[in-house]
Amino acid sequence: MDKFIDEAVNYLQEAEHAVVFTGSGISAESGISTFRGEDGLWERYNPEEVASIYGFRKNPAAFWHFARDLFLKSTAFPNPGHEALAQLEKMDVIKAVITQNIDMLHQKAGSQNVLELHGSLDKVDCLNCTREFNWDHIASVLEKDCPVCESCGSKMLKPRIVFFGEALPAGTLKKAREETEKSDVFLVVGSSLEVYPAAGFPDIARYSGAKTILINKDITGLEDMFHTVIKGKAGEVLPRLAEACI
Ligand code: NAD
Ligand code: ZN
Repeated sequence: MDKFIDEAVNYLQEAEHAVVFTGSGISAESGISTFRGEDGLWERYNPEEVASIYGFRKNPAAFWHFARDLFLKSTAFPNPGHEALAQLEKMDVIKAVITQNIDMLHQKAGSQNVLELHGSLDKVDCLNCTREFNWDHIASVLEKDCPVCESCGSKMLKPRIVFFGEALPAGTLKKAREETEKSDVFLVVGSSLEVYPAAGFPDIARYSGAKTILINKDITGLEDMFHTVIKGKAGEVLPRLAEACI
């Protein structure tokens, strides 16, 4: 593994526009389950029911039970992986973090330029009367019950995340593509790369001339797309990269 870490450090040190792409694997060490893989949430939940816009419209409570399992049991604190990425941005080594995660842990760790392809839990809207709620408020209600709009009584409270069956936010997607095309190093962390269009980014980066690096706990079967592959946990590998770049 050391050889691959050295290789990644060399790429990062020479980079002028390094960009990072993260999936749910980077938050696993914060106690948030991934969707796929060993112990993934799809072993216990039906994605059509709990994470699609059709399922949500039929039964919002099913989504909120799932959200409780996913986010309230976690420590919800950034781990050393998120912190190392924030440090690398401060050191001007990386220019942007593109993420599929909705947990806001990159921002909590101090990353500034974060492009959230699937939105975030930060705000929750009532689809009936348009009242807006903050996540912290909803999270406190969720500890006891499913949230209900305090103005109109509707259960149709939808977080500003992208459900299956919904389009990705066009402006963010455009910026993410631009960052990817501009990148000379493209580092993917903790993603099974199964969800499109985001999963196509490493190819876009490679064809634009970037060196591509993958850090993942398990083998994904997509290793051929990368110049360097580091098999390991994000919370252990990323701090080593950041330290070596100081
Ligand atoms: P995924 O669940 O499909 O894959 C996660 C990958 O991370 C797996 O390949 C796994 O081997 C790897 N992994 C697990 N622990 C790791 C660790 N400690 N270090 C490094 N790698 C590790 O996740 P995905 O590719 O992001 O895609 C699926 C969707 O899941 C996205 O749409 C995202 O919005 C959503 N999601 C988000 C969160 C979150 O916000 N934290 C949590 C679950 C799912
Ligand atoms: Zn309402």
